[in-house]
Amino acid sequence: MKSLLTALALMGLVMMTGCRTVPLTGRSQFILTSVETEKTMGLGAFNEYKSKLPRSVNATYNAAMDNCARALIRATQYKEYDWEYTVFQSKTQNAFCLPGGKIAVYTGIMDIMNNEAELAFVVAHEIAHALARHSGEQMAWGAVQSMGVSVLKESGYGAAFESASEYGVMLPFSRKHEYEADQMGLLLMAKAGYNPRAALEFWSRFTAGSASSSLNGWMSTHPADADRIQAMRQHLPAAEAEYARATSKKGYGMSI
Ligand SMILES: [Zn+2]
Repeated sequence: MKSLLTALALMGLVMMTGCRTVPLTGRSQFILTSVETEKTMGLGAFNEYKSKLPRSVNATYNAAMDNCARALIRATQYKEYDWEYTVFQSKTQNAFCLPGGKIAVYTGIMDIMNNEAELAFVVAHEIAHALARHSGEQMAWGAVQSMGVSVLKESGYGAAFESASEYGVMLPFSRKHEYEADQMGLLLMAKAGYNPRAALEFWSRFTAGSASSSLNGWMSTHPADADRIQAMRQHLPAAEAEYARATSKKGYGMSI
């Protein structure tokens, strides 16, 4: 019992010291890793990708990526990352932004986009994950989870805690992160001067039943279900207000 109390007190202390606030949403979160550690991890993974995938030579795609990545990075006003972006030649419909600001979009997902503003939303959503340090947050909760499991093991509640925290914290967590990245993504694209309505138009094309079985990569891990689109609609007025304030408006940008 004493060890349990000590461990709980320790967990409390760790959680207090690891608290920070997510940019744009103001949500409190708990992170144990430093920005530097996450940057190192992101850089290592990015170099791996770059050694395996060829860069796209499609001039239109590269120009669209140039425009939107520059504008979005400026809109983050975040200088701690060594931002970098690239377009990979691959049929996979994928996009990501690694911790530390390493952004990549695959030509496969650009093939199903109509314009630069749709690209801006996908890239902004990915930038949001990195800006909100969602992977750092997941690592921190993973550490708390294993700490809890080892403490409760001797009392026989280890397995119960493990499954409860898996379903109670870890799973809803990834859903929460997706919604947060959507909300932040809408605001970021608007700040960068892109019409946030393009995000909903992009999603709406991929709602259930519309050739969704042929989708892979990003579109399958980011399903455009009704709840998600509904949540994005709720954030649209704030994004449109941000768009109205944007000094240089690009609208939908170039066609791609
Ligand atoms: Zn996401």
